[in-house]
Amino acid sequence: MTQTHVNAGAGFDQWLDGYIERASKNGVTRELLQQAMPFLVPEPGIHEKQSNQSEFALNITQYLDRVVTLDRVSKGRAKFRDQRKILNEIAGTYRVDPQVLLAIWGVETDYGRVRGAYSVLTALANLAHDGHRAAFFEDELSAALSIIENRHARAEDLVGSWAGAMGHGQFIPTSFLKFAVDHDKDGKCDIWSNDPIDGLASIANYLTQHDWRESQPWGIEAQLPDDFDFSMTGPEQRMRIADLNAMGVRSADDSNLPDYGAASVLCPSGATGPAFVVNHNFHVILTYNRAEAYGIAVGHLSDRLAGLRAKVSRCPDGLTPLTRNQMSEFQTLLTKAGFDTQGADGFTGPNTRKALRAYQNDAGLVPDGFATAALLDGLRQSV
Ligand code: CA
Repeated sequence: MTQTHVNAGAGFDQWLDGYIERASKNGVTRELLQQAMPFLVPEPGIHEKQSNQSEFALNITQYLDRVVTLDRVSKGRAKFRDQRKILNEIAGTYRVDPQVLLAIWGVETDYGRVRGAYSVLTALANLAHDGHRAAFFEDELSAALSIIENRHARAEDLVGSWAGAMGHGQFIPTSFLKFAVDHDKDGKCDIWSNDPIDGLASIANYLTQHDWRESQPWGIEAQLPDDFDFSMTGPEQRMRIADLNAMGVRSADDSNLPDYGAASVLCPSGATGPAFVVNHNFHVILTYNRAEAYGIAVGHLSDRLAGLRAKVSRCPDGLTPLTRNQMSEFQTLLTKAGFDTQGADGFTGPNTRKALRAYQNDAGLVPDGFATAALLDGLRQSV
């Protein structure tokens, strides 16, 4: 064992003593803690996973190529045929669209094939002991104990990803407690079993509890007029379809935009990449995972599974977004330059987009809120 591991273990034991004390105060029984104990052990691999996460950055084309593969489309279509009865039943019960259930299932776990093999108790304990967002993961660990207490699973059956996401739809424990359902009525919300029925129904319940509107498309690819004001893009801004039509925003096949209420224009890879007009349901997908690219991938896959001949325009070659670490540096530099991003977490949210747009306007650039390596270099030299 290396020195680092010894140290990690020592710190872990100290955290564990504190956790047991906090949990006991919150009413967690001795018996429950005893069941969990064999899994509350240090596992340095979990932290490596967490820190490697931020090294990659893909533009929307590269992301869709990776997530919505031909294999995933054809597998999904086969699942649609094989599981039609159960999918339609679940979709009918929860009033969601079966192709969207399938798409989330496909993107999250490749239709149940990759559900994760980590002990969720071990993963969460390690993330709670030492990581950014430690308090968040400690709450998830306590929620995982509640799952055992409620007899949905035994401690040894709580398996999932290194980040504690479980089952067919990769629910974190707090989401499980709020949204998992026992669709086959055997007394357990079993999202872990090979039989996906509870897992799929739980995804459906999650969507319906987040105000999914049945039969509303997630969105479409759009084409923007030459004089389009790119400062109006981003999921945080919603506009009337009538106004977008009046501005000359069209669907990619050059028809008027269909009207499903207030919509957002997205340019996930900036002004030179593809544009989308997205509806209320897109925002529901973002509650599952807040990354715009994730929402577009789920939406696009659901279209393909429904048999739509959907095709998305490609980004120009070489268009590379910043990695999370670069983004965090970018945020720090922007703030120093007088464009306050309200923090430097490495994620592009509304505050960062606003600050970046102000900077782009100031520099006479297209205010699309998309950070590139060239912009980062420029800031490094000027700040
Ligand atoms: Ca069940």
